[in-house]
Amino acid sequence: MHAPHSEKSFDKTAAQDLDRGPGHIAPDCAGQNFYAVDRGLRDLLQLYLEPDDFRRLEPHFDRLGVLAGGRLDELARAADKHPPVLNARDRFGRDEDWIDYHASYREMEKIAFGDFQFHAMSHRAGTLGMDRPLPAVAKYALQYLFVQAEFGLMCPISVTDTSIHLVRKFASAELKDYLLPKMLSDDVATLWKGTQFMTERAGGSDVGAIETTARCEDGAWRLYGDKWFCSHADADVALLLARPEGAPGGTKGLALFALPRRLKDGRRNAYRIVRLKDKLGTRSMASGEIVLEGAVAYLVGDADRGFKQMMEQVNLSRLSHGVRASAMMRRCLNEAFVCARTRVAFGKTIIEYPLLRRQLLKIAVPTEQSLSMFLFTASAMDRANAGSREAESLLRILTPLLKFRACRDNIPVATGAMEVRGGNGYIEEWVQARLVRDAHIGVLWEGTSNINALDIVTRAVGKSRAHRTLEAYLKKLLDEATLIPESFRDRLRLALDRTLVFAERVAAEQHLEASARQAASGLYHVASAILMAWEAAQPGADARRALYARFVLEHRLSAQDPLEPRHGDWEREAAEIIFSERQAAIAEIAGLLES
Ligand SMILES: Cc1cc2nc3c(=O)[nH]c(=O)nc-3n(C[C@H](O)[C@H](O)[C@H](O)COP(=O)(O)OP(=O)(O)OC[C@H]3O[C@@H](n4cnc5c(N)ncnc54)[C@H](O)[C@@H]3O)c2cc1C
Repeated sequence: MHAPHSEKSFDKTAAQDLDRGPGHIAPDCAGQNFYAVDRGLRDLLQLYLEPDDFRRLEPHFDRLGVLAGGRLDELARAADKHPPVLNARDRFGRDEDWIDYHASYREMEKIAFGDFQFHAMSHRAGTLGMDRPLPAVAKYALQYLFVQAEFGLMCPISVTDTSIHLVRKFASAELKDYLLPKMLSDDVATLWKGTQFMTERAGGSDVGAIETTARCEDGAWRLYGDKWFCSHADADVALLLARPEGAPGGTKGLALFALPRRLKDGRRNAYRIVRLKDKLGTRSMASGEIVLEGAVAYLVGDADRGFKQMMEQVNLSRLSHGVRASAMMRRCLNEAFVCARTRVAFGKTIIEYPLLRRQLLKIAVPTEQSLSMFLFTASAMDRANAGSREAESLLRILTPLLKFRACRDNIPVATGAMEVRGGNGYIEEWVQARLVRDAHIGVLWEGTSNINALDIVTRAVGKSRAHRTLEAYLKKLLDEATLIPESFRDRLRLALDRTLVFAERVAAEQHLEASARQAASGLYHVASAILMAWEAAQPGADARRALYARFVLEHRLSAQDPLEPRHGDWEREAAEIIFSERQAAIAEIAGLLES
């Protein structure tokens, strides 16, 4: 591995340009290159991408890193302050609803859909100069960089990408011919963006309670009903679930439809956006309520497999949500570091105080865990797409694990970063306030924490037995990581064995259902700790990742006495190395894994 960016690129931030001292407000990350400053990402991309792909794509990671710390960040700030506005009717009284967006949002769309073509990069050649679709690792790394500046727009970007996936995989040849050229276009002006409407008043978690009906009238499907949460409400085509008349109740009777906003003759389809939600976060993006009044829709795939087909989109979105949470945590961490290194209190920069350091570690460790987990998950997706059954099984369990835990961790991380900035962190002109607001949606959409935890325990573990594939893979990584002291690897092996036994018990014994989140957390923590230890042992890698692994082992996978001090000497030394702003060699930190 090499370090393509000198440490100078990190030094040259607004943070270092400002005076340090009492009376000076700590700067923020404005002007940073979010790729260049992210040592972990740069190392891991070289591990998880083919060398040739890395070489070809690195200029784009770098370019997006500059944009995310610069222009995109400015645009995101403006778009958050000027949320979309719904116009329910035109001036002639027609129900021709439309949504006005601020110019900043439109400019971000051009960057996302025009310049980077996020929506198409997994589906066709020709994006970012590639002669084939991008690997999942690269796509999600780009999402991660983008979201460090703008979170709201990633919903329309991702849901367009995932809608294309469903159409490509399940639609008839005729429907593909109709939709795909529009959905894969690189022309922002004519592109058909996608979305997904499932949730109704009767149920978000309980999808089987959906009441929208589909009637076959004059040879066409028409939809009647109400969708209660519709993000990217004015998308050009929505994939949604509805129950064909006469179909059985529950999820079995649901069919998947593609609902175009405009009909083939250009008229508005028969549904209305009746209201936009006044949301806590994701304010730049329009989420609304939709009433379907006989709207024309196209059946996608088999009528009795709608829910199963839709779950593919849900799982792709879950992975993206984990990535988005990871991205927001990284932004929190970068902001917290800049602040902690420059803010002076009681005559010292605040990073010198033990309690503040502990607070920083509580931001850094989950951030690094999520980075390893999302790249590992994305690399499993790449291998699964290439036909590996083992990788498919890994993906089955890793996806909800990432969604569940990274989205939960994002909330205390965002609050922690706000606190590091002190009172200014609560003020909307700093990014921390937005990060706190945006963090919370991750535990709601595409399945709440409970729904994801139950999916992990009852289905991925109980039914699919995917935890045993994960076990085999993680043990192989531990065996390979011979540079990591044997005693530490043994502790990780033991933690893995105990976690697996616990998860199996929870899956098998119904009375333990209330422990599903505990078991899911254990699986996430042990997997991420082993990954980070393995990554640290790779040639040229930053060995500090192994120190993060030890923090996870001690604080998330080991018993704690609440009335004993929680940190030993190793923690002070480890923090020193972690905060040193330089890469560590494995020999330098090995002793800290054993003490
Ligand atoms: C801003 C925003 C945008 C959204 N965008 C979209 C969108 O574009 N498309 C879309 O389809 N949906 C969207 N949603 C909806 C979202 O996916 C749902 O809100 C979510 O799935 C939860 O469903 P619900 O609101 O009906 O809550 P409920 O399902 O009623 O859940 C309420 C509580 O009960 C818990 N619960 C439910 N069942 C169980 C169980 N078996 N065991 C334990 N606990 C349980 C849940 O965890 C939750 O805490 C959006 C939501 C928001 C807030």
